[in-house]
Amino acid sequence: MDKIKMTTPLVEMDGDEMTRILWQMIKDELILPFVDLKTEYYDLGLEYRNATDDQVTIDSANATLKYGVAVKCATITPNAARMTEYDLKEMWKSPNGTIRAILDGTVFRAPILVKGIVPYVKNWTKPITIARHAYGDVYKNTEIKVPGAGKAELVYTAEDGTEIRELIHDFKGAGIIQGIHNTDKSIESFARACFSYAIDTKQDLWFATKDTISKKYDHNFKDIFQEIYDAEYKTKFEELGIEYFYTLIDDAVARVIRSEGGFIWACKNYDGDVMSDMVATAYGDLSMMTSVLVSPSGVYEYEAAHGTVQRHYYKHLKGEETSTNSIATIFAWTGALKKRGELDNIPELSAFAETLERACIKTVEDGKMTKSLSLISTCENPVILNSLDFIKAIRTTLEELL
Ligand code: NAP
Ligand code: MG
Repeated sequence: MDKIKMTTPLVEMDGDEMTRILWQMIKDELILPFVDLKTEYYDLGLEYRNATDDQVTIDSANATLKYGVAVKCATITPNAARMTEYDLKEMWKSPNGTIRAILDGTVFRAPILVKGIVPYVKNWTKPITIARHAYGDVYKNTEIKVPGAGKAELVYTAEDGTEIRELIHDFKGAGIIQGIHNTDKSIESFARACFSYAIDTKQDLWFATKDTISKKYDHNFKDIFQEIYDAEYKTKFEELGIEYFYTLIDDAVARVIRSEGGFIWACKNYDGDVMSDMVATAYGDLSMMTSVLVSPSGVYEYEAAHGTVQRHYYKHLKGEETSTNSIATIFAWTGALKKRGELDNIPELSAFAETLERACIKTVEDGKMTKSLSLISTCENPVILNSLDFIKAIRTTLEELL
């Protein structure tokens, strides 16, 4: 079989620990034998980030803006323990945060469904994709612990010195205050990323806030979404037969539980934090969640939702066998290859990526899986494979399907 040719390179962002080990295995077993892979390689492993004063992360994000599609391995976000472990010059920021800030993107997370891993919510037969607004609100807050009686006010001073002043509360005793904000620019980017992704994946888009209670703050989110929808996306949605649906957050939660899935749920920052953990858990397993960062200008960065699986890596370093699930990382590659195929008009590349996805699903449905999957699968006698043998089993299925 001739290898599939590519025209534009993928931006390849390598990472850390166990996922870095899987990364190489995936390339060697599942990609390189079939695709004449073109990538522009960036090593986001913590050692090289430290050596380059994190410049490599910035360069990789800029390359993504240039080429349009990236595939990223999980990376360590340094904490105090990592400072000593890797002898770091600085506690470098989260690469995902840095990349997201440069691409101005929104993260969409969706579960990979396989027969035998049954969602806790029995009517969820299709994936629910969560889009979380990743800027502001309570994540950029200012708080005061009020010591005792006194007046709290909200004050905005314009550049020309004029003020808007609102009473928050006339405290009779101790209490608490929180100041939060968002910007129209950020909400607009979020809205555009959501509408574009809905069109891209041909799914309905749901959005919810608490605008009945928060008549200015949350209402602003609702209005911006509606204005952008009407002006820029309505026609395209109608052509595709998909829907933009706005409701109150509590109503959305009830409807999501009753639904069969198959839509994108756009959430404000806090709602997205809470609901993405709930949805991921209800579908089964973090190791079966995909993640894609989409910028309003249509740039895509694909990755797995899970981290570097540190505990497995330490076992691997001790020479012990690991059974780490590579499916979400494989889906990061297939997502990126599919998108590259679509943008460069190479249908065989997209078709290959789709076949590889089916090979992953079929392998698990045929009863071959990693340990964590066997624990949540209804499969009667699963064959539990180690990290490499699982990838090799997927390769065997892939070769059968090709
Ligand atoms: P984690 O890597 O997601 O792993 C947490 C636990 O979940 C693992 O110990 C393992 O459970 C299970 N797990 C996750 N992925 C799995 C897989 N593919 N196969 C099998 N089991 C899997 O989270 P963490 O250990 O909290 O974080 C490790 C590092 O990852 C941290 O340095 C963090 O900064 C980084 N991180 C990066 C990203 C990213 O780059 N997107 C996201 C999150 C975290 P058992 O040990 O019970 O088997
Ligand atoms: Mg969270």
